[in-house]
Amino acid sequence: MKNKNGVSTKCVHSGDLIDDRFKGATSPLFPSTAYDFIDVEDDKYPRYFNTPNQIALSKKIADLENCDSALLFSSGIAAIYTSLFSFIKSGDHVIFQSSIYGGTLNLVIKEFKKFNIEYSLVDSFFVDDYRDQIKDNTKIIFVESPSNPLLKVIDLKAISNLSSKHNLISIIDNTFSSPINQNPADFGIDIVLHSATKYLGGHSDILAGALASSKANINKIVESSINYGGNLSEYTVWLLERSIKTLSLRVNKQNQNAIRIAEYLSTVNKVKSVFYPGLKSHPDHELSKKQMSGFGGMLSFELTDLNTAILFTRKLKLVKSAMSLGGVESTLCSPSLTSHSKISKAERENLGIFDGLLRFSVGIEDYEDIIADLNQAFEKI
Ligand SMILES: *Cc1c(COP(=O)(O)O)cnc(C)c1O
Repeated sequence: MKNKNGVSTKCVHSGDLIDDRFKGATSPLFPSTAYDFIDVEDDKYPRYFNTPNQIALSKKIADLENCDSALLFSSGIAAIYTSLFSFIKSGDHVIFQSSIYGGTLNLVIKEFKKFNIEYSLVDSFFVDDYRDQIKDNTKIIFVESPSNPLLKVIDLKAISNLSSKHNLISIIDNTFSSPINQNPADFGIDIVLHSATKYLGGHSDILAGALASSKANINKIVESSINYGGNLSEYTVWLLERSIKTLSLRVNKQNQNAIRIAEYLSTVNKVKSVFYPGLKSHPDHELSKKQMSGFGGMLSFELTDLNTAILFTRKLKLVKSAMSLGGVESTLCSPSLTSHSKISKAERENLGIFDGLLRFSVGIEDYEDIIADLNQAFEKI
């Protein structure tokens, strides 16, 4: 049954573990790896994804994504490979958006051929281009929206319609939006994935992953996940639960800061272009309004060239240079030196990723201070 509470209430209260013994306000932590044995079917064990803290936090994440059930993993990538390998076997085919997270792309390129699994990479956000790739052995369509680093948006309803028409499973990596800004299950997407290392954790100190889906899909995924391992340690589950209590507060502040910063950057003449779905000038602004409840804390902007971008980064005092994202602190990185360093300059430019591009993960600081920091750095380049 869907939880009718508002999203901030879900963040705080969904899946609370009640402290019956001492009546404490927070969920107790149960780190046991051995529980009173009743029978094999009911045996609790962390790798079976059925311990008290995992079940409680899974409920919170399921509620936040408007899904029946959820599972927690030791990393975003563990959630990603487990969801893929629960539904495919040798000889199957999977369609991926080509602008997915670099680690996901590596997993596909490096591992799939070992298992004789075919794939297509679609360098497009038009759903017809995905339809054109469907073959008899296609099992999954995997997308990410908004995309990294140019924040392009794909029509979730159209992807889910296409998938159900052809009996495929649709999967989305919803990390960039967090459940606060986008609930893909509302548009019929089957499996919603998160690197909880980013917004769900939110403090740049937890590595974790999560996925949410229907009860039937989760049962199928659990059958495989028990064999793959990859569950999250109870200690980190507990920390992640604590983090998610403030998810709505954090993400809403990041949304508010990001639009102000995007608007500010649009006025700076040293900036060639700004990519943020909340800007009216963004080509996917209308689609974003339809399927997102907030435009997120991720944006990118382009300076003239790599050296200028590096110099600009070095002049920043408050905003840190870091590859990860989604934390309370503002961070920034150069995609051509980080996420897209392994592909050639020509390939990057083909994707619209020029060397002067900087990807910005907007934090929860006062936006005036972030803008003042950017401004003093612009004056020095
Ligand atoms: C970081 C990230 C991942 C991978 O998550 P890990 O927790 O590092 O394993 C997957 N997708 C996106 C969009 C990410 O940003």
